[in-house]
Amino acid sequence: MLKRMVMITMRDVVNILGVNIDNITAAAALDRAEGLVKSEGTSVIYTPNPEIVMAAYENSGFREVLNSADMCVPDGIGVVYGSRIIGKPLPERVAGFDLSMGLMERMSGFGGRVFLFGSKPGVADEAAKKLTEKFPGLQIAGTRNGYFAESDESEIIDEINASNADLLMVCLGAPKQEKWINKYKDKLNVKLCIGAGGSLDVVAGTVKRAPEIFIKLNLEWFYRLCKQPSRIGRFMALPKFILTVKKENKKNDK
Ligand code: UDP
Repeated sequence: MLKRMVMITMRDVVNILGVNIDNITAAAALDRAEGLVKSEGTSVIYTPNPEIVMAAYENSGFREVLNSADMCVPDGIGVVYGSRIIGKPLPERVAGFDLSMGLMERMSGFGGRVFLFGSKPGVADEAAKKLTEKFPGLQIAGTRNGYFAESDESEIIDEINASNADLLMVCLGAPKQEKWINKYKDKLNVKLCIGAGGSLDVVAGTVKRAPEIFIKLNLEWFYRLCKQPSRIGRFMALPKFILTVKKENKKNDK
């Protein structure tokens, strides 16, 4: 518990539109995630992109949920641009997918247990298969799809707790996953919950991640937009986010 408290108090964060984002490299975020998954108590990591930060800016309840995390990493390059606008540049984008994969790779080294929760029926099971092939030492503690009624939730908690998982990947999309984690974190006996969006779809292969070159050029968002033009509404959150950061920054300068 002490170790966890030290880790939390040592956080260096940049406040963007009211949301505390960890000022951390991807490598350091992975080390910290590994520390959390090995510590007592239940820790939480969220992976906000500009759309999620905008939602939190507009809703104080959701903002409090994000700010109660033990670590919040900038999942979208837009969040990094936002940090530059306010003169507190974050070192780099930390993709929730990469962080989760890196953590599971490390967990495979010590037989760590992961519970995969979320996505359409069958996706978490397929992701479990792929993860076992990729990381043979990783133990799949359980899987559960992300479509359920509120009345099923206590049974889901019991199932997760009975599985003795160290890590709970919650892939229900934002803001559902963050709210779900926040509601139940005190009832869960896992060491770490990560709100990881569409990660299980990518692991299972139902959704393809952008080719490496797009990721390197910070154009993953563009690739996803071309692949799924119906997401245009969601992508409009990016210009709105940048404009809002600029506006708030000007206000604070006065
Ligand atoms: N999802 C879910 N339950 C729901 C709504 C969504 O499990 O009630 C899943 C959905 O199947 C998908 C993920 O949540 O796997 C959300 O993916 P999306 O790409 O929207 O997430 P992002 O990473 O963009 O937040």
